[in-house]
Amino acid sequence: MTTTISASERTQRLLSLAAELADDFATRADQHDQENSFPFENFERLKETNYIALPVPEEMGGLGGTLLDFALCQERLAQGCASTALAVNMHVFALGSMMENLLNPPQTFNAPGEAAVPVEAMVTTAKMMVSMLVGGKSIIGGGFTEAEIGGNWGFPTTKAVRQEHNGVPGFVINGRKQFTSLSPIIDLFSVNTSTTDPDGNPVIGLFIIPRGTPGVEIVETWDTMSMRATSSHDMVIKDCWVPEQACVGLRAPGDADVGANVLLAWFCVSIGAVYTGVATAARNFAGEWAKTRKPILFERPIAHFPGVQFHIADMDIELAASRALVRETARRWMDGELRAREDLAQIVLAKTQATNAAVRVVDIAMSVVGAPGIFRKNPMQRYYRDVRPGAFHPMTNDVAKELIGKTALGIAPEFLPRWG
Ligand SMILES: Cc1cc2nc3c(=O)[nH]c(=O)nc-3n(C[C@H](O)[C@H](O)[C@H](O)COP(=O)(O)OP(=O)(O)OC[C@H]3O[C@@H](n4cnc5c(N)ncnc54)[C@H](O)[C@@H]3O)c2cc1C
Repeated sequence: MTTTISASERTQRLLSLAAELADDFATRADQHDQENSFPFENFERLKETNYIALPVPEEMGGLGGTLLDFALCQERLAQGCASTALAVNMHVFALGSMMENLLNPPQTFNAPGEAAVPVEAMVTTAKMMVSMLVGGKSIIGGGFTEAEIGGNWGFPTTKAVRQEHNGVPGFVINGRKQFTSLSPIIDLFSVNTSTTDPDGNPVIGLFIIPRGTPGVEIVETWDTMSMRATSSHDMVIKDCWVPEQACVGLRAPGDADVGANVLLAWFCVSIGAVYTGVATAARNFAGEWAKTRKPILFERPIAHFPGVQFHIADMDIELAASRALVRETARRWMDGELRAREDLAQIVLAKTQATNAAVRVVDIAMSVVGAPGIFRKNPMQRYYRDVRPGAFHPMTNDVAKELIGKTALGIAPEFLPRWG
């Protein structure tokens, strides 16, 4: 007998799972932060419960979650352990956007006039990747950012040169990637490169390199003030030969292509949710603190001071705006909107609001808690550190504002000269 469940029941189930995981992860968040260690046990739980396959339909072995479900769950998960939520985000958003390419393939991968990848090839690749990731409970993560390019992912200095090996066509890859979140457990590294198409034209090539491939090494560089338990180490790729099939996508060099809407919808909504979650944890902590902190001078706890009440109100107003925007963006995406190139600005706007508001909220929360908040044993200082990098994820504030402003003024994003 098969039982069907409604969408709202599914959402409730997923949220209960996220809450259970978050509460468990919260018990270890401080330790991993202090020790700069990777939370392997959290990822065992995320695999056991199939959270890592959240956006895959149930009939394909996943949990059947939508983009909105993903946002709701990630916001909750980040309240328990920000690093775990951010790290798993890198895997799940990639899987979610692959599912989109599989179920609703765009007409071409690129904008009109640019070299396009045949849709059938893209769908075949997405099918293969999803079955490896879901069936094999494999983790994907990777390699877009480089010291030389920062977040300008359309211009990688990592190079893939076409070269045969024992008569088998393939590529030799050389380069160094930074910020490889999940590096201790990635099974499949996705690596963005500069390469050539079969006719020798320069293109951007996306490669999938299995862990253990000779020439790939993780160099442990990750010792940061924020998101310490993500183990976002460097990935050094030296004379790494891969067969032709490892190249899963080619596109014209440069900034966004049409495929970017899919990637950025899944990325911006979920990243916005993660940092809203960190800010929510800080707000809740500050709220409880205000209710119980009672200096001996006063009859009642500091929650009775108007200034503290205003702080709580300011935090709630910021968080409500972020949640509304992130969720509305997810809903619009699910309704088939935001697919045009000029819609990228709207997608990015949600992430920009949520990540920046999260910093403002945590700053306010810190001021409510006061000096005790800077002690190592107080979780406030971790929220304060973990919330900082939200705006560094693509699109960074400056890049996002340029896109949002140009779109609003009817100026093409690629219009030059810029201010530089
Ligand atoms: C915790 C964490 C985890 C991460 N995980 C991953 C991961 O798993 N995989 C991955 O590939 N990356 C990851 N990243 C990297 C991240 O996604 C960005 O790519 C990276 O932080 C950007 O590099 P940068 O900060 O050096 O910025 P840069 O892009 O060098 O920007 C520096 C400054 O210059 C401005 N700027 C840069 N380019 C432009 C431009 N074109 N126009 C106008 N202004 C510009 C920016 O706004 C910013 O103010 C992670 C980052 C963090 C913080």
